[in-house]
Amino acid sequence: MKHFPVFLAVEGRRIVLSGGGDAALAKLRLLLKTEAHLTVFAPAPAAEMIGWAAEGRLTLHRRAMEPGDALCAVLFYAANENDIEDARTSAIARADGALTNIVDNLTDSQFITPAIVDRDPVTVAIGTEGAAPVLARAIKADLEARLPVVLGPLARIGKAFRKMADILPMGRVRRDFWADYYFNAGPRAMEHGGETAVQAMLDGLLHRHRTAPKRPGHVAFVGAGPGDPELLTLKARKALDEADVVIHDRLVTPEILELARREATLIDAGKEGFGPAMTQDEINRLITDHARQGAQVVRLKGGDPTVFGRLDEEIEAVAAAGIGWHIVPGITAASASVAAIGQSLTRRTRNGSVRFLTGHDMAGFADHDWRGLARPGEVAAIYMGKKSARFIQGRLLMHGADRTTPVTVIENASRPDQRILSTTLDQLPQDLSEAAISGPALTLYGLAARAAQAEISALEQELA
Ligand code: SAH
Repeated sequence: MKHFPVFLAVEGRRIVLSGGGDAALAKLRLLLKTEAHLTVFAPAPAAEMIGWAAEGRLTLHRRAMEPGDALCAVLFYAANENDIEDARTSAIARADGALTNIVDNLTDSQFITPAIVDRDPVTVAIGTEGAAPVLARAIKADLEARLPVVLGPLARIGKAFRKMADILPMGRVRRDFWADYYFNAGPRAMEHGGETAVQAMLDGLLHRHRTAPKRPGHVAFVGAGPGDPELLTLKARKALDEADVVIHDRLVTPEILELARREATLIDAGKEGFGPAMTQDEINRLITDHARQGAQVVRLKGGDPTVFGRLDEEIEAVAAAGIGWHIVPGITAASASVAAIGQSLTRRTRNGSVRFLTGHDMAGFADHDWRGLARPGEVAAIYMGKKSARFIQGRLLMHGADRTTPVTVIENASRPDQRILSTTLDQLPQDLSEAAISGPALTLYGLAARAAQAEISALEQELA
C-alpha cells in the first residue's frame, strides 16, 4: 500500500483550493459536501464559483495565492490546470502546513482523493493508487447500485439511537439487533412510512431483541479449500461472516482469514510436520470451551474438513459436550490439483476408482494396498507425501508397478505460487521436502499434466 486510506475530520476546518476552471469546479463539487470552510483563490473564477460564494458556501478571493493564504488549512488542492502555477501554489500551501494535492499529478501530491460512494454518514472511498481510474469508477457504479439510497438516513437515525441500544449486552445480541435494523426492519419501515416509521419502530425492535432467547453456542466445521479465496463456498463465507471465534489450521491462507468478521477472535491451532504444535486434545478443548460460552465457532480446516482432517475426533468431543454442530464441505487438495494439470480423477477407460492416501500416519510412513496400486491405470492422490516419497516409490516398484508410471507433484495448488513437478515413478525425488518443495504438496500417482502428456506423445512419434 503506497497510500493509506483514512477519514479526515474536516468539520469546521479550512480547506483551500487554487484555480478557477473546470478542474477546480469538479473538486469543489465534492468538497461542498463536507462541513469544512472552503477558501478559493482564483483571479478568473467560473460563474458557478461566484454563485457559491454569493450563497455563502465558500470564500472567494479573486487573486492569485500568496504566502500565508493556506495557514491553518488541513488540505490544499492545486487545480490551476497550469503546471507552474500548481507547483508555486502547492509550495506555498506546504510551507503553510497543509497537506497538498495537485489535481491529476500523482507523484507531486501528498494525498490523493478517492472515488467516493456517498450515503452520508456512510461513505465508501475507493482508491487504485492512480493505477486504474476505470476500475475505481466501475467499483463505484457497482456499489452505488448495491447500496440502497435509504442507507444514509437509516445510518443517521441509527447513530442517534446508539446510546439506547447500549443496554443490550455487547457482542452477538447487540450485533443481531443492528443487523436486523439495517438489513431487515429498518428498510421495511422506511419503505412503508419513511423516517417517522423508522423512529417509531425502533423501541419495539429493541424490546424484541432484549427479550429474545439467547442463541446457544455452535460449531461449524468449515472447509477453507486449497487456498484460493474464490474457491470458498458461499456457506463457508457466510459462516466466516458470522463467526465469533475462528480456530484454523496452518493450511488456511491469510487471504481467507481476512474474510472472517473483523471482531472475530482468530486462533491458530496449526500442526506442523510429524509433531503437533497443539495436541488434538488441546484443540478439542479449545473448540468446546468457546462454544460452551455461547460463541459461534468456526473450525476452519484447509481443503475439505472430511479429508485427512481428524474431523471425527473433534465432532465426538463437541457432541459429547452437548453442543450443536454442522459440516460445511470444501474443495479438497486433490480436486484443486487435478484441475491444475487439466485432468480428471477418474476416467472411464483408465480408472473406475481413485484412492486418497496419506503418506504418513500417527505411526510414521503409512502402509497401503501396494499390490493393487501397482496395477496399470491406477490413480492415487497422496496427501502428506513429501517425506515418504522414497518409501512409496520403493513399495510400488517392489510390487511390480511400471517404472514409467507418471507422477505429478502439485505444490500450493490454486495459489499464486502454485508449482507443478512432472516426473515418473522411477525418477521421483526421494524426499520432496529436500527437492525445494516447501509448501503443501499433493502427489498424483498415475496422472501426468495434460500439456506434458502431449509433449511426451509428440516425442514418442518423433522417435518412432
Ligand atoms: N483437508 C485437507 C487435507 C489435509 S492434510 C484437504 O482436503 O485438502 C494436509 C495435506 O493436504 C498436505 O500435506 C498436502 O498434501 C495437501 N494439501 C493441502 N492443501 C494443498 C494445496 N493447496 N496444494 C497442494 N497440496 C495441499
